[in-house]
Formats: sequence, C-alpha cells, structure tokens
Amino acid sequence: MGRVYNFSAGPAVLPEEVLREAADEMMDYQGTGMSVMEMSHRSKAYDEIIKGAEADLRELMGIPDNYKVLFLQGGASQQFAMIPMNLMKNRSADYIITGQWAKKAAQEAEKYGKVNRIASSEDQTFSYIPDCSDLPVSEDADYVYICENNTIYGTKFQTLPDTKGKTLVADVSSCFLSEPIDVAKYGIVYGGVQKNIGPAGVVIVIIREDLITEDVLPGTPTMLTYKTHADAKSLYNTPPAYGIYICGKVFKWLKKMGGLKVMKERNEKKAKLLYDFLDQSKLFKGTVAAKDRSLMNVPFVTGDADLDAKFVKEAKAAGLENLKGHRSVGGMRASIYNAMPYEGVEALVAFMKKFEEENL
Ligand SMILES: *Cc1c(COP(=O)(O)O)cnc(C)c1O
Repeated sequence: MGRVYNFSAGPAVLPEEVLREAADEMMDYQGTGMSVMEMSHRSKAYDEIIKGAEADLRELMGIPDNYKVLFLQGGASQQFAMIPMNLMKNRSADYIITGQWAKKAAQEAEKYGKVNRIASSEDQTFSYIPDCSDLPVSEDADYVYICENNTIYGTKFQTLPDTKGKTLVADVSSCFLSEPIDVAKYGIVYGGVQKNIGPAGVVIVIIREDLITEDVLPGTPTMLTYKTHADAKSLYNTPPAYGIYICGKVFKWLKKMGGLKVMKERNEKKAKLLYDFLDQSKLFKGTVAAKDRSLMNVPFVTGDADLDAKFVKEAKAAGLENLKGHRSVGGMRASIYNAMPYEGVEALVAFMKKFEEENL
C-alpha cells in the first residue's frame, strides 16, 4: 500500500494509526452493528464519542472549567462572521493583520461594525509578525483578533499581543494542539480541524462562558449564536458526527504520544531539521523573518519560478506530495503538522539536498 509523505497545508496528513482504527471500525463500531456515520447523534454510543472527545481535549489543553468547548460546522471561515455577531456589543473590534486569513476575518467583521486594523505586516508580504508590545488598542473595542499561525505565509506569534485588558480572540487553525497554550489568556480560541486534527467540516470553538450571551446582533441566526450550541452541548442539530469521532481519535493519539509538551518538542525537532537546511542552502531560501517562523508551515523558494515548478514535480514523483506554495506566495511550502513523522522531514531534506546538487 503506497502512502506518500503529504505536506499539504490542509486538508492535511492524519496519524496512520487513527486511519487504521477508523477503517477497522467502519462496518461495525464496537458491536453496534453499524458505522459511526450511520448512527443517531442521540444514541448512547455517540454520546460517549462526543463526551469522550471533549473530555480528552480538555485534558490535553488544560481547558479551565469556565470555558465551553463547541464542535461546530462551517469551517474556520464561518467564525469570521460568528465572532462579530456574538461579541460586537459596541460594534467595534481591533484586528491584527498578519496574512490572508486575518484579512478575510477583518473584512467579514466590517459588515457588522467598525474594524480597526491596529497592526499589519502587509507592507512586506506578511513575512513577519508586527511588534505587538504597545498596540493602539481602541477604547471601545469588543475584542482584539489575531490569526496565531499564518498558514499561507509561515509566521507565528511567538508571544501573544498585549491587548490591554481587551478580550483576545485567536484563530489557531494551523497550530491547534501543536504545543501547549494557556487557554485562560484568550476569550475565544478556535480553529478548523482539517489542518492539524481531523477531517474538514468541523470547527472547534473554545469560548469563555461570559462571552456566551443572548445579547447578539439583531438578525443573528439561531445556528450562528454560540448560546444555542453551548446550551445544547453541540447537539442542537445533527453535528458533523463522523468528523468529531475522528477528532476524538486524534485526541487519544495525542495523549498516547505524551501530550502537547511532547508534541511541541517533536515539532521543534522536525522544524529545526528543515530550517537548518534552508539556512545553509545555496539554492533554497526560507521566506520569513527567522524570529517569527512557524513550526507548522514552512514556505521556501529557489528564486526561479521554473526551478520551483521542477522541484514540486520531481518531489511528487519521489513520494513527497503537495509542496507547491500557496498561489499568493508562489514557491514551495512544506506543512509539517503533528502527524508528519520526523522521517517525512528527513526524506524531504534529503531530496532537497539531491535537487540542489543536480541543479546548482
Ligand atoms: C485554513 C484556514 C482557514 C479557513 O478554514 P476553512 O475551514 O476552510 O474555512 C482559516 N484560518 C486559518 C489560519 C487557516 O489555516
């Protein structure tokens, strides 16, 4: 059976062990005589799946009791609207623009209120994280919004911005569970799961309880009100049941691996291998400020578009897939999420060495 090393930014590689287990349980989930896809979301078996997933996530991230965990649909992009609809009491919010996803979120929020772009790195194609130590946080801002890891550009906030007491909202889609975080520092932490956790279609929202209110913007649909889903424990309507089941398996896998501290060490070791190679390479070059580098998404270029294309093509033939950079950056991008083994990065670096020798 031919599995490739899949460096896609998302949907992305999942742990082989999880896929095997899911395959084993496909026809008959634990003696129920049916697949999880065929089962009522109100059944006892499913209740255990979703409650177990939440309990394991809480344990992994150390989520405080005054936060709710919501398993929702609509991807990360739906949160771009749901956040202002639920949080913009003063119709004002501050956004830090570090890439396309933060930009899109700000544009969407603008439909509902005043958006203040209080910092940006767009002047240098989002290749760095702006200084956020003394931000001009707006007095009436309902929240300060960041995209913590920039999937497309390969930068990450190494420290959280000083929001001067305002609620911090963070899109962590592409760094979810890649390292420990202090949930108490955020009002909302959310992410689409298809980057680092599970199948597309599920978005996980971790939200402090005081932000869940009935006082939402007029016209906010029931389905886009956090309170609806918090009150119903993510079972207001049929949830993305199979996706949540796979997420639950990935949480169990992460616990077995040793938890988020161990994942961070593994991720640092993988990223170091690739960055160290890039830093001494005469052909390839990383595209972002070294201090702001992401552990998850590593963009790089040769400086020659034809050579980049040749690299992507030959890498694919060698079993290293989805290395083409995002269409807005060009070049290459290796996404090395939790489920990418060290051996995958070793294989990539060995291939890059060979390609450099042949093409320099
Ligand atoms: C992929 C991604 C999104 C968009 O996710 P969808 O689930 O496709 O809406 C948003 N933010 C970040 C950081 C992403 O990486």
